[in-house]
Amino acid sequence: MNLRVLGCSGSIALDNRTTSFLLDEHVLVDAGTGVGDLTLDELAAIDHIVLTHSHLDHVLGIPLIADSVMQRRLAMTPFRPIQVHGLAETLDALRQHVFNNVIWPDFTRLPHEGRPILELVPFRTGDHLALAGLQIEVLPAWHTVPACGFAVDTPSGLWVFTGDTGPNPALWERLRGRPIAQLVIETAFNDDERALAEISRHLSPSMLAAELLHLDVDSDTSIAITHVKPGEMAAVTGQLAALDLPLPVFALTRGERYRF
Ligand SMILES: [Zn+2]
Ligand SMILES: [Zn+2]
Repeated sequence: MNLRVLGCSGSIALDNRTTSFLLDEHVLVDAGTGVGDLTLDELAAIDHIVLTHSHLDHVLGIPLIADSVMQRRLAMTPFRPIQVHGLAETLDALRQHVFNNVIWPDFTRLPHEGRPILELVPFRTGDHLALAGLQIEVLPAWHTVPACGFAVDTPSGLWVFTGDTGPNPALWERLRGRPIAQLVIETAFNDDERALAEISRHLSPSMLAAELLHLDVDSDTSIAITHVKPGEMAAVTGQLAALDLPLPVFALTRGERYRF
């Protein structure tokens, strides 16, 4: 599986893009501002968008992708809508708060009621999705809104993305004993803001260290942090370096490509 890191920041600024990962050519994991780095052809090739949760930094690309690629997708034969997969609560939030004909036109009914460009497809935590040749398991997450993570089967082991989450014992339970090629885990705040991380159900470096104790220390899993706020990378990496982490950790960078 080919992975493109389109966005891995907690917010925006020059060279910072919010969460989005492209798996091979046809599956997008979250639709943050990173999608703006794709060409129109690359955007039009996206058949599936899988969402971790409803927060703006993860969904704001969806209405704009629909608008950008609608004519190109309509010209494809056979026509297929872009399927947007998420928890029922996530999809309800999109219907109510984005595709409500106020914030944006309802692309789940456009350009034609029976032939829309977007199709919303609910999943549940624990489901196994088969999308464009990829096997994707929906993992538990613990956040301020219903949320999930994903594990994708690859020949090298699982590619795991935690999504936005605070401490997540259910995740470690699910992953126990399974080979993980890469774990992408959020570290949204630095430890000076740990109280804020706890309230907003994110992680800080010391909280990350506690989470990583659940992994096998002999594992050769590559562990990458994501969702660091712009301007806080030096504080976060400095605090991580001062901790006695059970496994090495590095910060994901926008534009990176991996093959698993
Ligand atoms: Zn969030
Ligand atoms: Zn987020």
